[in-house]
Amino acid sequence: MIGWLRRRRLSHRADEMMPSAAEFAAVCNASRCLALLNGRERQRLRRLAAIILADKEFHGAGGFQPGWEHCLPVAAHAALPVLEIGLGAYEQFRTFILYEDEFESDFEEIDEAGVVHRGRDLRAGEAWQRGPVVLSLADVHQSGQGDGYHVVVHELAHQIDHLNGDADGYPPLPRQIAHRDWVDTFSAAYRRLKRQIEAGIEAAIDPYAAESPAEFFAVTSEFFFDWPERLADTEAGVYRLLSELYQQDPLARLQRQ
Ligand SMILES: [Zn+2]
Repeated sequence: MIGWLRRRRLSHRADEMMPSAAEFAAVCNASRCLALLNGRERQRLRRLAAIILADKEFHGAGGFQPGWEHCLPVAAHAALPVLEIGLGAYEQFRTFILYEDEFESDFEEIDEAGVVHRGRDLRAGEAWQRGPVVLSLADVHQSGQGDGYHVVVHELAHQIDHLNGDADGYPPLPRQIAHRDWVDTFSAAYRRLKRQIEAGIEAAIDPYAAESPAEFFAVTSEFFFDWPERLADTEAGVYRLLSELYQQDPLARLQRQ
């Protein structure tokens, strides 16, 4: 909930952050999933991107200082998942941390035998519960090219998943989605992908989705926006539920081209 005074200040700051029509068109046209938006959707995306630029903090890391030209594409891509559901879905985090390229991060994993593995690996993005969204700008620029890779959507799907607690592939559902429908459809699709991978069959979506239900939700969200025809062909039930969750139909956008 935000009070009217904060809303008015935010609206004023968003006016100041509004990208010009030409620079916003350049950002949209550089990415298939944004280029598919119609005029009304682009106008809405531009306003949401301006509010994100006004409301969130953007910090550099690893010696990198992001400028407007780096923050604007992040904000534009970040506005896509919430185009119809609104920015309340991002209320639990305040900050984007931007690296120029992939960054090293500590990890700790417990395997099926209960053994803890610790180490460092290279990452394109990270999302912390109530914490920052961390992104590699090189990966932001590779996102949204129509091959199902979209690091901004991926990390923000984790943030949406975090809205009702741990990231577990079960975000807060709108009234029109039945709890059972979501659980049964996502569980069956997740098990199918794991079985395919175990059988050595090439997966139709990024096999990273088989890491956990949370990664399955984040990866299928990437495909939903960036390669919708692949997701709809592979897992029509998952496509339908994501369409109800995000209140968007990227496949219809593609078909009207
Ligand atoms: Zn993830």
